[in-house]
Amino acid sequence: MNNKLKTLSKNDLITELKNLVSEERKLLSLVLDYLSEVQSRKLYLEMGYPSLFEFCVKELNYSESSAQRRISAMGLIKDIPEVKTKIESGHLNLTTLAQAAMFIGQEKRVNQKSYNINQKRELLEKLENKSKRECERELIKISPLATIPQDRERIITEEKIEVRFVITKELKEKLERVKALISHKKANPSYEELLLELAEIALKKLDKSVDKVKSVDSCKKGNKEMGIIKDEQVSNSKDRCQNALPLVEVKNSEAQQVGKESANSQNTSVAKTLSNTRHTRSSMQSNPLTINPIPNSRYIPAYIKRQVWQRDQGRCQYQSTNSAQKCNSTYFIQIDHVTPFSHGGSSTDINNLRLLCANHNRYRWE
Ligand SMILES: [Zn+2]
Repeated sequence: MNNKLKTLSKNDLITELKNLVSEERKLLSLVLDYLSEVQSRKLYLEMGYPSLFEFCVKELNYSESSAQRRISAMGLIKDIPEVKTKIESGHLNLTTLAQAAMFIGQEKRVNQKSYNINQKRELLEKLENKSKRECERELIKISPLATIPQDRERIITEEKIEVRFVITKELKEKLERVKALISHKKANPSYEELLLELAEIALKKLDKSVDKVKSVDSCKKGNKEMGIIKDEQVSNSKDRCQNALPLVEVKNSEAQQVGKESANSQNTSVAKTLSNTRHTRSSMQSNPLTINPIPNSRYIPAYIKRQVWQRDQGRCQYQSTNSAQKCNSTYFIQIDHVTPFSHGGSSTDINNLRLLCANHNRYRWE
């Protein structure tokens, strides 16, 4: 305890406290500026983090919720610069901004309603100078469906985690059907048992789908399984990579070209890949026990992909050049040629192949 404070008069104590709180808000506003600059330069990628969120939690030691609140605030400031002044004056705080950002996101997801900048500004004006509860009431008035609580996790013991989420009537009915279908195996399962059963079924299926990606027969399955990265796949991987994707091989490509190529050029690449794949399949069918990779082909044989996946344990191998920080993300994992194929890099030497998350793969080529 600071003993000097005990000597302050009541008025001085309160005045100085208010000054400090005002400074604290200005400092917060400045921190958001710095974070925004880190984001625009993508320094978190260079430092070995897959997202700004991870950077905030692991490098800056913010709690998950503190990091999320700051990132939400940054998003709103980008659209409405005057939000910064309102943070500094105390009319808006991080909790309110996070509530607003979550509500706007839910409106889009649940009600397919996109807010333009003016609508966002109007929403924030309604939430100014309000407590968390008052904001909740205000948002419920606007759209009850968009204020459904977010998913929550709470650690109960080392082995048990409480997960809370709201489901739709449709999902509830589907779960009941699954319960009936597995009743011969497990009568009246708890939700935990039901989810475990579903997870095992899903993992078996997804593991097979990864094999399909690796298999030469996957050419019939479309661009994604052929390893062609689509723009949406890369853009979805921004910061909040929420869904693991099957292992994909970056097309002819280096990810540098992702997002720039037109649908036509993608089709051309598909045709090239199909051609390579058919060639490989015919080679393999002639002698299924002897797999001879096609020399000078971009195509990565399935067994090579499996070796790379196993060696890298399904994790992004990007490592910061200035520290020991390694990404290790398991989301949006792709195979990267260390020496690009276009520069003579081999597609069959596992020492020239590694796993990278989509963000780091793209960053590398940027
Ligand atoms: Zn990564």
